[in-house]
Amino acid sequence: MTAPVLCCDLDGVVWLGTTPIPGSAEAIARLRTAGHRVVFVTNNSSSTRADYATKLANVGVPTDPLDIVSSATAAAHWIACNVDLDAPVLVHAGPGVAEALRERGCTRLVDAAAARASDRYAAVVCGWHRSFDFERLAAAADALHGGAVFVATNVDPTYPDVDRRLPGNGALVAAVATAAGRAPDVIAGKPHASMAAVVHDVVGSTGIMIGDRPSTDGDFAAALGWPFALVLSGVGGPNGEEPVPDPAPAFVETDLASLAERWLA
Ligand SMILES: [Mg+2]
Repeated sequence: MTAPVLCCDLDGVVWLGTTPIPGSAEAIARLRTAGHRVVFVTNNSSSTRADYATKLANVGVPTDPLDIVSSATAAAHWIACNVDLDAPVLVHAGPGVAEALRERGCTRLVDAAAARASDRYAAVVCGWHRSFDFERLAAAADALHGGAVFVATNVDPTYPDVDRRLPGNGALVAAVATAAGRAPDVIAGKPHASMAAVVHDVVGSTGIMIGDRPSTDGDFAAALGWPFALVLSGVGGPNGEEPVPDPAPAFVETDLASLAERWLA
């Protein structure tokens, strides 16, 4: 029997912010040696696949960029299926979203920093980025007041850092939604349908989802019909933002190193 594909979240599993979680790189190497393909599935849409591959290599996890799926990929999948590829799309997001949209054939991307209030857009894609500011927020609201479809890459409330919780894309989307007077029409990333479609394309029909956030990674595993392996190295855990669900997931371990230890024993 072949070893199942492991779909592994990044923030809170492989690293916290820019700091690698101890033992995770070695665990991934051991799981690969044991025959598991490891595909990274993150709701963080900010970076390009090449940047994620470089960041992974820098923490000791060399990875084919095609084995990295982000909520940018999922948002671009939804746009490609539902919006004219030659229609203007406002990008209120990082480079990962622009790259994913270009890869899917979108030809008229406008960065929110360069938008004009009089422009009309078919869609606004909101993803996490550190250059979020008042002018970009106003540009996204203008486009939504003008009738654009509102696509959120994801609505994670936070991202775990080493000693703090950073505002996640849910916080940025909430600001846009408030200014526009509209909730997102579509949420693309985990645990939603566009991400599931992309992961099924990349991985196939069977696998195991590993993540630190039950409300996204756990619900995503359920949507895929896969087992969920919860690691407590990110936002979850007894004292974390999200408790361990009851009933507990198929696997619960302190971190990826412990999970690999258990599976490879
Ligand atoms: Mg995470």
